[in-house]
Amino acid sequence: MRQDQEDPYQRRSAQVYAAADRAGSGSVASPRAVLYDAVLLDRDGTLIEDVPYNGDPEKVRPVPGARAALDRLRAAGLRLAVVTNQSGLARGYFTGEQMRAVHARVEELLGRFDAWLVCPHDDADGCDCRKPAPGLVYAAARELGTTPSRCVLVGDIGRDVGAAMAAGAAGVLVPTPVTRPEEVVAAGWVATDLPAAVAEILRRQQAVQPSTPTTEPVRTALVVRSDSAGDVLVTGPAIRAVAAGAERVVLLCGPRGRAAADLLPGVDEIIEHPLPWIDPAPGPVDPEAMRSLSARLGAVGADQAVVFTSFHQSALPLALLLRMAGVHRIAAISDDYPGSLLDIRHRVPVGVPEPERALSLAAAAGHRLPHGDEPVLRLRRDAVPPRPADLGDPGYVVLHPGSAASSRACPPEVATRIVGALADAGHRVLVTGGPDERAVTARVAAAGGTDLGGRTDLAGLAAIVADASAVVVGNTGPAHLAAAAGVPVVSLFAPTVPFGQWGPYRVPTVRLGDAAAPCRDTRAASCPVPGHPCLSGVDPGDVVDALQTLAVSGGGGR
Ligand SMILES: [Zn+2]
Repeated sequence: MRQDQEDPYQRRSAQVYAAADRAGSGSVASPRAVLYDAVLLDRDGTLIEDVPYNGDPEKVRPVPGARAALDRLRAAGLRLAVVTNQSGLARGYFTGEQMRAVHARVEELLGRFDAWLVCPHDDADGCDCRKPAPGLVYAAARELGTTPSRCVLVGDIGRDVGAAMAAGAAGVLVPTPVTRPEEVVAAGWVATDLPAAVAEILRRQQAVQPSTPTTEPVRTALVVRSDSAGDVLVTGPAIRAVAAGAERVVLLCGPRGRAAADLLPGVDEIIEHPLPWIDPAPGPVDPEAMRSLSARLGAVGADQAVVFTSFHQSALPLALLLRMAGVHRIAAISDDYPGSLLDIRHRVPVGVPEPERALSLAAAAGHRLPHGDEPVLRLRRDAVPPRPADLGDPGYVVLHPGSAASSRACPPEVATRIVGALADAGHRVLVTGGPDERAVTARVAAAGGTDLGGRTDLAGLAAIVADASAVVVGNTGPAHLAAAAGVPVVSLFAPTVPFGQWGPYRVPTVRLGDAAAPCRDTRAASCPVPGHPCLSGVDPGDVVDALQTLAVSGGGGR
């Protein structure tokens, strides 16, 4: 079962102090929006100016533009909740009655909120609701009749973003002078102020819904994603959207993405062919191979092609081949001028998660996910084999130290110490890796885990991941397998590409590693910095703490 279909919070002992006596029932936006039902807002520093431990309604000052921004969200059918740490209650700096007076004043100035969720505890209380713990986000989603993954939280410090991510919600950081620089660097989504955050939330929501649904019927759609397994997996929701609007979907992928392509729902046929302008270590362009690819694509008889790419790749060389193969409707994202190569030239700002970026291209081509299909990564059930019986019960932690790009792999000595720390904390650890990573997985697993290096193909790995209570992994394919299974991720994320685009999508996540390391945004395949500092400094104790934040206990299940 996916994490976003259950509510771990219900099984926990935290006390959430709900200041409002209004129950948050009622209908969500109709027709159902693709991405979000609700926006959760931090209070101090986000909605109103931060007056430490304020119990005085007269001192409530909204941030500039707050009322108009909130009214835009309300008009768009989004529900609103406040999620706020108020340790001043635990410390006796103000009373519950004073706090309710402050909240009444906030509503007088900013309009009504559908729910108020307050953590009254102090850090020392060890509760499950004080941000960055995810308890308030779970509670808010429940109050509003939705799931955390359909919520976006806006806040001004790292605790806010951490709480959102740990619940599988989106988090927008709106920095103020008190926000620490490292919190800004680590956040996947940053906006300059509350109105800008709201504008981008609404823009992303709009971008995945076609403005003009496709009128000409699509019999055969050709979709393209030509790089590695992770890239293919994050394009899955967009391919399902195309499949919902086409009778038949043919996927062109590269050799490195083939195993992932076999796992995607909605794909009827796969063509595998390398594209020399996409591959990181390309062979020379072979004119005969290109002519034969063009002929093969022509034989598909596609009446529409949707070419998905990463932000640093060009769709145009393939668009030319498709034109030469006689394809008349071609859609792609292109900042470069496409001339007559594209019929739909789509553009996306930097920072949008890859699955949404691809969904917005599908929308520009006239397609959206059908009702009931959430914008999450998913795999074909019939493509994932049963899990090997000798691995014991579900509830283990998977540690996957490697990556096809060594810059994004966890250093073996760090992975070894993580296994030791997890074992000491009572976790069963399975160490996974490809056939060429056996030496590393054997060494890492020797610290207290089970070595599964080279034992599975991608589908077999998906089966193992699906029964894990959490996956500890870098920015690589298995992180997206975990997202597809709804399994929480401790992301050891090398910042070579933006976390906001490539972090695990819509699944409870804790990010570790130095987001400000010099490899940031270099897209390097092998680490350009001696000592691989972005991940070599990860403290194994932080991994143990991250599992606790994600409600993964050492005793077995989650
Ligand atoms: Zn609390």
